[in-house]
Amino acid sequence: MTMMTAEQYENSLRNLNLVVYLFGKQLKNVVEHPMIRPSMHAVAKTYEMAHRPEHADIMTATSHITGKKINRFTHIHQSVDDLVKKSKMGRLLGRETGCCFQRCVGMDALNALSIVTYNMDQKNGSDYHQRFLTYLEYVQENDLTCDGAMTDPKGDRSLPPHKQPDPDLYLHVVEENGDGIVVRGAKAHQTGAVNSHEIIVMPTMSMRKEDQDYAVSFALPADAHGILYIMGRQSCDTRKLEQGKLDQGNILFGGHEALVVFDDVFVPWDRVFMFKDYEFAGELVEKFAAYHRQSYACKVGVGDVLIGASQTAAEYNNVAKVSHIKDKIIEMNHLNETLYCGCIACASEGSQEPSGTYSVNTLLANIHKQNVTRFPYEISRMAQDVAGGLMVTMPSEMDLTAPETGKWLEKYFAANCEVPTLNRMRILRLIENLTLGTAAVGYLTESMHGAGSPQAQRIMISRLVDMMEKTKAARKLCGIEE
Ligand code: SF4
Ligand code: FE
Repeated sequence: MTMMTAEQYENSLRNLNLVVYLFGKQLKNVVEHPMIRPSMHAVAKTYEMAHRPEHADIMTATSHITGKKINRFTHIHQSVDDLVKKSKMGRLLGRETGCCFQRCVGMDALNALSIVTYNMDQKNGSDYHQRFLTYLEYVQENDLTCDGAMTDPKGDRSLPPHKQPDPDLYLHVVEENGDGIVVRGAKAHQTGAVNSHEIIVMPTMSMRKEDQDYAVSFALPADAHGILYIMGRQSCDTRKLEQGKLDQGNILFGGHEALVVFDDVFVPWDRVFMFKDYEFAGELVEKFAAYHRQSYACKVGVGDVLIGASQTAAEYNNVAKVSHIKDKIIEMNHLNETLYCGCIACASEGSQEPSGTYSVNTLLANIHKQNVTRFPYEISRMAQDVAGGLMVTMPSEMDLTAPETGKWLEKYFAANCEVPTLNRMRILRLIENLTLGTAAVGYLTESMHGAGSPQAQRIMISRLVDMMEKTKAARKLCGIEE
């Protein structure tokens, strides 16, 4: 079964024995929980779309290990064309779901490990790469969703891992024996954690020798003994527990994050891809970050939805032809397509690593992500401007359906007489969801902090631009000789 259907994916999750807590209680049925289910549907979309012939070119690839057709989310990029298709896949799925579809973190972790395990072996004569390829084949053959786990809680930010008063604030090795290792710690903000079959752990930053116990990378089944998940909240999340759907805005899909705790978890050696190789921790972080910054192509697709919603709201108010509204829609498109330029450019300028994997242009991936920390906020500001205040003052669906109040909402929220009031309320709720509600986690805060906060990209930009070349060019043109 190299490509699961959406239904097979959902059923495969039922077979997992995840320990998940929400609102202080352990969940009995994770897959059916109304606050988690929309996020499961978003990942399921990555399976469903891969079976659609019209999207096969974008959504599927040929495995470089087995030669079989696989879901692109389990693929190791073999060309610049693969990288470009990855960016296009992100936009496509962002537009289809209007939220975070979660599966990119695993893809990015696999690709980063394919590069770094090879480099480690070349330098140290280890055998990580073959281990990794065996694992990769397992992931591809079973079409698994992997959660890429990088971000440690980090405790006191001024102290390195080994100096933390509580040593578990960075995930670390606490025991090693002939069978494997035991790890303890946590990973925070884990996108799609409880919709994943596997969890791939990587170090969170560059490490020195004193921190070598923290330089560890491995993969585990998501339900391995000792792993537990504590679900994160999202603003307006309990609307998913209400009877009606209207107030959710996006009535089909959502995302989620969780704190993942590793309470002395055993990892067999064949699933360890980095063990105290501190001098390679930084390289793994950098490769993963560059790929994941490219993955923020997803926000272009979500931007498509928000622009479409804003245009619809304008039409429903009968103001779509007003010049300043038209200009705002143009500006939203300008910003959104500028983001698209970035994720296509870093892919197009990609190159081959010694392992054979194609990597994005790191500078351009960082430029792209830096834009992503800004433009969705500006697009959201304009969407709220176009939508008007009703987006946040509108009564609930229950008021719309109650006989005493429904008639008043119908009467006073009518605008363009050709449009049912219900539809006007729906589109405003979608804009609310994307800019203030559950999906704003993905479209705004995740745009800010996901794949590294803005300052992380600025550090990379300062390291990667060739300032010497620029100053030389300027000095030459005005006759300065040195
Ligand atoms: Fe993928 Fe975007 Fe979600 Fe990150 S935020 S996992 S890139 S959809
Ligand atoms: Fe993310």
